[in-house]
Amino acid sequence: MPSGPGTRQVVCVRCTGRFEVPAPSISASCPRCHRQVSVTDVVVRNTRWGGSIQTCGRVLVYPGGALRSLRIEAADGVEVLGSIDADVTSGGPVLIGPGATWRGNLSAPAVEIRPGATILSGAFRIGAPAAAIAAAG
Ligand SMILES: [Zn+2]
Repeated sequence: MPSGPGTRQVVCVRCTGRFEVPAPSISASCPRCHRQVSVTDVVVRNTRWGGSIQTCGRVLVYPGGALRSLRIEAADGVEVLGSIDADVTSGGPVLIGPGATWRGNLSAPAVEIRPGATILSGAFRIGAPAAAIAAAG
């Protein structure tokens, strides 16, 4: 369904409900589960350590970027071109690009691992329904 002008569709990372937000939004209150959720992409260009990340957008780790986090939940997908060390639950497809280094468990509907990527450790559960995100929360 196309979004109206100035808005975009997001999928709630907590309940997988879909709703629209004004395009520049950073966070929003989900109309279905009424929880405040982040709706912006998390972009890592340098080093980011600690905590957990939960967003209705995507998590992007650029080349040279290093993301180390206890737990990452991204409703729209994850793209890693740098290094990542985390347990990741993604509602969208995951790309582990050339030069990427991956350490940690992954649950996602699909994953693409490009030649040149390094997987150091982790249990991958691919093809899990998006509802796994809500269940895991
Ligand atoms: Zn919700």
